[in-house]
Amino acid sequence: MTKGVAIGLDIGGGSTKLGLISSAGDLLASRRVVLPDGADFPVIAAQYRAAIAALGGEGLPVGIAYPGHVDRARGLGLNSNVPALDGQPLAAELGAAALLNDADAAAMAEARHHAAARMLMVTLGTGVGVSMIVAGKPLETAGGTLGDSGHLNLDPSGRFGCRQGCTGCLESVASGEALVRDATLLAATGESPALSAEALPSGEVSAAAACRAALAGDPGAMRLVAGMAGWLGMAVASWRASFHPDLIVFGGGLSALGQPFIDQIRDRADARSLPFLSANCPLILARLGNDAGMIGAGLAALAP
Ligand SMILES: [Zn+2]
Repeated sequence: MTKGVAIGLDIGGGSTKLGLISSAGDLLASRRVVLPDGADFPVIAAQYRAAIAALGGEGLPVGIAYPGHVDRARGLGLNSNVPALDGQPLAAELGAAALLNDADAAAMAEARHHAAARMLMVTLGTGVGVSMIVAGKPLETAGGTLGDSGHLNLDPSGRFGCRQGCTGCLESVASGEALVRDATLLAATGESPALSAEALPSGEVSAAAACRAALAGDPGAMRLVAGMAGWLGMAVASWRASFHPDLIVFGGGLSALGQPFIDQIRDRADARSLPFLSANCPLILARLGNDAGMIGAGLAALAP
């Protein structure tokens, strides 16, 4: 066994990333497992074991970043976007030393790069993950997460539902999923040539393509992004009022929109926040990219 090295496993809806992580938080090697359609728990567990062996990680501590709630007492993940793993004894199967929510894992890794004692991290991907790190550890409620803060209920019209099934929540109006829906609708009208050009044969515009169009200055795409910044500004004002963090960090795929997008969110949040809550709470981009969840999972497995 190599001392001070662990396997970090970051489970996603389409694929799982596995990395060899040092105690300094360095990613030494990694592999990606693409889950076959309809794969059941034994198949997935066997693929993970094979990937760990391929990394030379047999016998190393394993940390699992789970895309949903975690029941640590029973070693189970729940309510995720990989239903085949929900309620299954994955942690026992892999002999895992740590099982934690994926947003918490990413935030734990990110927090090592900032001096803030209380850091809120917002992961803007297909959904919205929110984690609060206090003195290096995630603040947890019943589901082993920070509630479900991506489902903060904001839109009184309740026009849209999110993929988890609530209506009018933050995810339903400002997330990768919401951006795909709105960009696809806008592309179909022909009012945004850049979005129409990015549309796939199915007519769908991906979140990455919508971000590219906005960064290139397409007015329609920029309007969608400004709309998301408005909702996220409301959410930030509410998170500040609930948790009073020293720093708010934004990661995930939509953070590709860059600091100007974050500044838009900040302006909307500051206009709605109590001054003492916004005065010492900058909003910045995450330093770590998509490897953060894997690194945080490995670090959790190495934590005393
Ligand atoms: Zn929701």
